[in-house]
Amino acid sequence: MLKAFKYRLYPTQAQAERMDWTLARCCELYNAALEERRTAYRKRGVTVSYHAQAVSLPEVKEGRPEYKDVHSQVLQDTLRRLDKAFAAFFRRVKRGEKPGYPRFKSARRFDSFCYPQYKGTIGGHVYLPKIGNVRVKLHRPLEGAVKTLTVKREVDEWYAVIVCEVETRPQGPTGSEVGIDLGLNHFLITSDGEFVDAPRYFRKAQKKLRRAQRSLARKKRGGNRGNRRAKQRERVAKLHRKVKRQRLDFHHKTARKLVRKHDSIAHEALNVKGLGRTRLAKSVYDAGWSTFLAILASKAEEAEKRVVAVDPKYTSQTCPDCGRVAKKLLSERWHSCECGCELQRDVAAARVILGRTFPSGANAAVNAYVA
Ligand SMILES: [Zn+2]
Repeated sequence: MLKAFKYRLYPTQAQAERMDWTLARCCELYNAALEERRTAYRKRGVTVSYHAQAVSLPEVKEGRPEYKDVHSQVLQDTLRRLDKAFAAFFRRVKRGEKPGYPRFKSARRFDSFCYPQYKGTIGGHVYLPKIGNVRVKLHRPLEGAVKTLTVKREVDEWYAVIVCEVETRPQGPTGSEVGIDLGLNHFLITSDGEFVDAPRYFRKAQKKLRRAQRSLARKKRGGNRGNRRAKQRERVAKLHRKVKRQRLDFHHKTARKLVRKHDSIAHEALNVKGLGRTRLAKSVYDAGWSTFLAILASKAEEAEKRVVAVDPKYTSQTCPDCGRVAKKLLSERWHSCECGCELQRDVAAARVILGRTFPSGANAAVNAYVA
């Protein structure tokens, strides 16, 4: 399986400038390649492929010799990234959704470039072709065979994200199965009745970020104030980075605990049309769910355990014991059924989710309602 390792890079001033410069070239190439695709489509109704764009790279280097100072694989990967954006776009069109056309990227937001077939050695330094030997801190050992290396800029810090092929490390079975409900008032609730919340310091940092974002929105562009705006923008970016890291850390801890404790974990499938319950009120955690589920799936795969996405329809309206479906208001925090089942609302939903993993008995009744 593939596993990503992220390490802080400590480039010299010159190396950092070089990496910034590389990002700027990649961003420029990305936007030019996007422009080419747009024009071809508008004027001739044809789609330019990744391959067609990749074979014209030598031509690009003729016209703009500075591109010879960016590693060819890095340039190819930039084009491949655009190709992926288009593939995702066409996939959504095919599914009948209304997707946004791939967009131009601003230099400020373009923050990574990748060596897709990295071959160098990694120790106290990591060799980045066309940039040099950059100091790196391996705070945990790298495992497996290196596949790709991505250089990432996070405001004023640099990182290497190294993806490796690693062996799975099966964790012994515990005989336990669990359903999790991604909650409205809690981050998640388990079918065992456990409530998991984001830590306080995280919620505090999040509030601070929102305030700073509002203040930035108020500051006008240009004029004498331009400098102040730029400073506030950097402050927001740093707070954003902090919140992101805290959230990630919380996700990893939560996923690790679940995988250690259970052999099988069921959750609602996200992004399913006609979702039975309103997602709007849950927006507090929204940004995090898909990331969390990806982390959970990866940890489970490494431990050779199971994660199942189940149909999310009516999970909070269904009785986990008898399968009866009864409408509940969002404000109703208690599940009380004619059959005698009394549970906290989200715990009941988590049990319904668990039930959908292994249809049998009452759970078969639940599934009959869903079908
Ligand atoms: Zn019931």
